[in-house]
Amino acid sequence: MNWGVELASGRCPYCGEPVQLVVDASAGEQRYVEDCQVCCRPMTVRVTGTDPVTIQLFHEDEARR
Ligand SMILES: [Zn+2]
Repeated sequence: MNWGVELASGRCPYCGEPVQLVVDASAGEQRYVEDCQVCCRPMTVRVTGTDPVTIQLFHEDEARR
């Protein structure tokens, strides 16, 4: 088992395309910015759970509010 790093999927808040991200679950709940693989715009990734890994994706402005 590849402990710590898991694949999580979500939907880009900008273009709506499904994206898959590699998340370091051993770091616990976290928030960071990653560029969408499809439209290259910066989306805020929030890791909300680690077992299993669940993520939420936000517009950058939305997350800053
Ligand atoms: Zn996108």
